[in-house]
Amino acid sequence: MPLEIITVPCLSDNYAYLAHDAATEATAVIDVPEATPILNALRARGWRASHILITHHHDDHIAGVEALAAATGARVIGAAADAHRLPPLDDEVTEGDVIRIGMDEGHVLAVPGHTSGHIAFHFPASNVAFTADSLMSAGCGRLFEGTPGQMWESLSKLMALPADTLICSGHEYTASNIRFALSVDPDNPALLARAARVTAARALGAATVPVPLSEELATNPFLRAKDAADFARLRALKDRF
Ligand code: ZN
Ligand code: FE
Repeated sequence: MPLEIITVPCLSDNYAYLAHDAATEATAVIDVPEATPILNALRARGWRASHILITHHHDDHIAGVEALAAATGARVIGAAADAHRLPPLDDEVTEGDVIRIGMDEGHVLAVPGHTSGHIAFHFPASNVAFTADSLMSAGCGRLFEGTPGQMWESLSKLMALPADTLICSGHEYTASNIRFALSVDPDNPALLARAARVTAARALGAATVPVPLSEELATNPFLRAKDAADFARLRALKDRF
């Protein structure tokens, strides 16, 4: 049975995710912008957090980690490279490490660019990847600590996952990302159709994530870049948009 994925809105525009294995009752929480909405989402389903997976050190992804860990006893897992600036970790991981959530296995991918220590978690059997601020819905994270070449390499790694992988990113930025995408790719029919769907979803206050990788490949301007140099050009345009 694949993991059941729940999207939990936090703060003003962040998302945390629950990944629940029904067979063993294990539940991973991916990023903890704040503890309360996550504890409420767990309680509503009668679930207990067994693991906390941290994607990167920014405060809007970790501020609630210690409170959630204290309330649930969950094991806290994050990048070894960022251990000095993450909440206390029970497990320090690097690319290639495997995290077992119940019956499922998550593979750690290094995806630097937004931050130097950013990691993603790919669960092949459940067809889901938690990418936070690396690959984002219709966009990618700003390059705070990495070069365009590093981010291009990170995105290329994610682009190589199976096309039906569900991409769980860290923010509700889709509408503004699509405005930029339309400015550089105005005649893309897949993008125009997605723009209409996103406008309708946002009008209802609905989340626009997660998104299948296939949709990102068809519409995300950063994944449609020709090469690293083209990616760098697009990223610089977006920073000024
Ligand atoms: Zn961030
Ligand atoms: Fe963020």
